[in-house]
Amino acid sequence: MIRSIAIVGGGTAGWSAAACLARFLAKRQTKITLVDSAAIGTVGVGEASVPNIHNFNAWLGLDELDFIETTQGTFKLGIRFDDWRERGSSFFHPFGKYGVGFEGMEFHQCLAKARELKDDSALADYSLPIALARGDRFAQPLLDAKSPLTDYGYAYHFDATLYARRLKRYAIERGVAHLDRRIADVRLAENGDIAAVEFDDGSSLQADFFIDCSGFRALLIEGALRTGYESWQRWLPCDSAVAFPCERSPGSLSPYTVATAREAGWTWKIPLQHRVGNGYVYARDLLSDDAATSALIAQMPSAPAASPNYQRFTAGMRKRFWNRNCVALGLAGGFIEPLESTSINLVHRGLSVLMDYWPGIPVDERRAAAANRHFELEQQHIRDFIILHYKLTARRDTELWRQVAAMDVPDSLQHRIDTFRSCGTLLQYDAESFKPESWLTMFNGFGVLQESFDSRVNDIDVPRMLGALGVIRESVRRASSEALPHEQFVAKFCPAPRA
Ligand SMILES: Cc1cc2nc3c(=O)[nH]c(=O)nc-3n(C[C@H](O)[C@H](O)[C@H](O)COP(=O)(O)OP(=O)(O)OC[C@H]3O[C@@H](n4cnc5c(N)ncnc54)[C@H](O)[C@@H]3O)c2cc1C
Repeated sequence: MIRSIAIVGGGTAGWSAAACLARFLAKRQTKITLVDSAAIGTVGVGEASVPNIHNFNAWLGLDELDFIETTQGTFKLGIRFDDWRERGSSFFHPFGKYGVGFEGMEFHQCLAKARELKDDSALADYSLPIALARGDRFAQPLLDAKSPLTDYGYAYHFDATLYARRLKRYAIERGVAHLDRRIADVRLAENGDIAAVEFDDGSSLQADFFIDCSGFRALLIEGALRTGYESWQRWLPCDSAVAFPCERSPGSLSPYTVATAREAGWTWKIPLQHRVGNGYVYARDLLSDDAATSALIAQMPSAPAASPNYQRFTAGMRKRFWNRNCVALGLAGGFIEPLESTSINLVHRGLSVLMDYWPGIPVDERRAAAANRHFELEQQHIRDFIILHYKLTARRDTELWRQVAAMDVPDSLQHRIDTFRSCGTLLQYDAESFKPESWLTMFNGFGVLQESFDSRVNDIDVPRMLGALGVIRESVRRASSEALPHEQFVAKFCPAPRA
């Protein structure tokens, strides 16, 4: 049995781990201690999520509306991608399925058939979250829905510092000990496992098992255990970001993130209740920090409300998520640029994998290997999904877009693109964070057409299918017009205290 756990780092990753393990180990006699350093601080960015955050919060028993209130949060139906396919283009990635299948056939195969018959409706016409987003409206999905159209996913925008604070309160209430100390060194045992972390005041903390949430420093997994890092920079060349919050003007609150392709990367706009988060993710060999900062400020809705937060990173993952008696979560474990807001999701997914393979001491290497394989796949699928956003662009106007359009992509991704092109099949594997409809969104948004469709579509009653498409479009239009404006929804059900 593991009797003691040390979590190193008190950012979103560290406090997520502390809260999750406090709940998981509630009935066992395991001492959990989290060490962080207020003097070092946290990365201070990360405001958007994917729907899996529901599962994590539900596991902890956090009430949704209370979570929104305490984190200055808003609802997120998806991401609007502007200027990605080409300048002036726009498409929306919703967290939900499109339409309803017909006579056992997948919806998108039916739509492909309809298009062959000159139906000119757009994929977006069959998505309730997109219709809601277009009107800046929000409604929670109906759990007892009569129509599958009203069963969609959504996520949140939130202040990650406030989220970490909420998780901290949760963890401490359940017995997690907290030390504010600066780690100066890591002591290894004779067998090479981590024995203790040593503080700059001369004291130390021993534990059976360690969770490295020390951010980009990766003090244990890399600093002490030399695990190695697999770089994905040849596919994801952006290596820098600058972020600023600014004031939000009342009047409209978008229930989505905006990601806009720019000269040497892309910018984000994330609406919270008390502010708008803005950032530019860019390739530094193609754009200087100053130029990125000016470009970002020029497109912000109001003046910066804080000084710029600059970050440097290398896209990639630690070669092993779990090495000896240590698991790395969050930025210590790797980083994929925040284009689809996947980092906090990976923290939560990593915790889920850790619980699935929960070890004893000494660690059974077979379990660690299984967990590593699972988590590696999870990260690689997300990597492929993000690379897709670059590879499919038709832009050739700047060096970045010329480079990414010409690059070779991982075989796993090329295989998905080729398969979709040839027959419209949306491949799906184990450990996927993004469902087929997300891949469909990208192919459609970037204008990748399926060259043929599932031949079984020819056997369905096509006139009835075309009629059903019309009914779906009308239902989406009607349901979206009945929902409350997002700003009113938040003000009514989960207003945060004034900042
Ligand atoms: C530009 C950018 C934008 C992002 N946007 C998103 C987003 O929209 N959505 C999303 O899900 N994720 C996003 N992320 C990722 C997200 O910010 C992180 O995944 C998340 O905040 C977790 O960070 P962390 O806890 O791993 O690291 P950090 O927040 O850096 O925390 C590290 C902790 O380690 C402690 N520490 C370090 N060294 C020592 C030491 N020597 N002694 C003691 N303590 C130490 C620090 O005090 C701190 O508590 C973004 C990241 C970047 C860079």
